[in-house]
Amino acid sequence: MMAVRRGRLFIISAPSGAGKTTLCRATLKRLKDMLYSVSYTTRSPRKGEQDGVDYHFISKEGFRAGIKTGRWSEWAEVHGNYYGTSAEFIEKGLSSGRDTLLDIDVQGTIQILKRHPDSVTIFVLPPSMDTLRQRLEMRGTESETVLKRRLENAKKEMAQQNLYRHLIVNDQLSSAIEELISIIQGYRL
Ligand code: ADP
Ligand code: 5GP
Repeated sequence: MMAVRRGRLFIISAPSGAGKTTLCRATLKRLKDMLYSVSYTTRSPRKGEQDGVDYHFISKEGFRAGIKTGRWSEWAEVHGNYYGTSAEFIEKGLSSGRDTLLDIDVQGTIQILKRHPDSVTIFVLPPSMDTLRQRLEMRGTESETVLKRRLENAKKEMAQQNLYRHLIVNDQLSSAIEELISIIQGYRL
């Protein structure tokens, strides 16, 4: 029997509002054989978000139980909520040879790199802090308090961008999408 090539993890991080959800969606539409790891979170769904598609929405109790049983490949508390990646999902995908895209924060990336050091890490930057604020305001999904917290966290996240192998500035959306796809395709030849 031929050995199946293991899949590879592509990790994308960015401060909230930089556009990583938009970029991931566009990329997945184009690279149809790529898997997307739908994270588990205790935050409430935003308008339009679907359970099982954008996130698996889960209770705090359920999440904590998962920490005890080793259900998460990585997990972190971000902006006051828990977020985690299913270890089972990742393992199944990789062992069947599927490349998998993860949209996780810096704390999660550090944990994944310990388990999967050959993961490809990509950090998305906004053109400026002003633009980041404008995008968050335009999206209109956060209260002023939550928005402030996200902007404060953004500075801390941006300070850790040197942990990542690739940087993309998301100024013109179409160029940023092309850059992301070409980075991924470069590893898949
Ligand atoms: P994140 O997932 O990083 O929090 P989103 O993908 O939700 O960010 O993007 C935040 C907001 O900015 C959304 O309203 C999105 O439509 C918008 N946006 C994303 N990329 C760009 C871009 N290059 N130019 C202008 N607006 C953008
Ligand atoms: P949001 O609430 O805007 O969807 O996501 C907030 C932050 O949590 C983003 O930086 C996002 O990348 C991160 N995040 C989403 N899912 C996970 C996950 O499974 N693990 C970790 N560590 N962070 C995640």
